[in-house]
Amino acid sequence: MSRIVEFEEDSLRVTAVLGCGEYNNNAYICTDTSRKHAVLIDLPAVDGEFLKALQSVVTLDAILVTHWHHDHWAGYDDVRSHTAAPVLVGEHEINIAPERIDRRLADHEVIPFGTGRITALHTPGHTPGHLSFVLGTTCFTGDALFAGGPGHTNTPDELTTLLATIRKTFLPMPAETIIRPGHGEPGSVGETQRGMEALERAPVRYRYGDITWPSE
Ligand SMILES: [Zn+2]
Repeated sequence: MSRIVEFEEDSLRVTAVLGCGEYNNNAYICTDTSRKHAVLIDLPAVDGEFLKALQSVVTLDAILVTHWHHDHWAGYDDVRSHTAAPVLVGEHEINIAPERIDRRLADHEVIPFGTGRITALHTPGHTPGHLSFVLGTTCFTGDALFAGGPGHTNTPDELTTLLATIRKTFLPMPAETIIRPGHGEPGSVGETQRGMEALERAPVRYRYGDITWPSE
């Protein structure tokens, strides 16, 4: 069963639905200051807790999917049967049946929801069209960046792309920026900055796959 954690971010409310499905995915519902408009980030397997959180939303303006891996859209049919909100994915994302999505999002595109604004960032590496989303001082990073290291990669080229994404997009953010990933616990950009420094100094050349920041 998933677990609900609520927090406030710039007077918006974020409802984190943690540990969904067999891969322990996280989804996030961001609600505006009027408490009437919301966006959903990712569509993992839906259980009773997740459904209750979705049903408390007055108007779901959009469903933002970080990337098109099955564990991030396994709840597609269940969510779609409860809402007509459009499903939006990155313009470079691959392996998607066209009828499943309503619109593509460009890098730096701003998605309004009532009084709220959330910004899509193209963060390739884990997949070619992966998106992360920035809301105030929180960054929803999907499978691009976890609390303990970069996301999973299948080839050396993917790892090179992902590390370039981390340097270009995540490291310049303020150190106190909270990272809320698609799996696992939250982290911070400060931890990522220290982790990347340790990785660059690591004596053994790092390989692709599942990488954790080296201990210092
Ligand atoms: Zn993934």
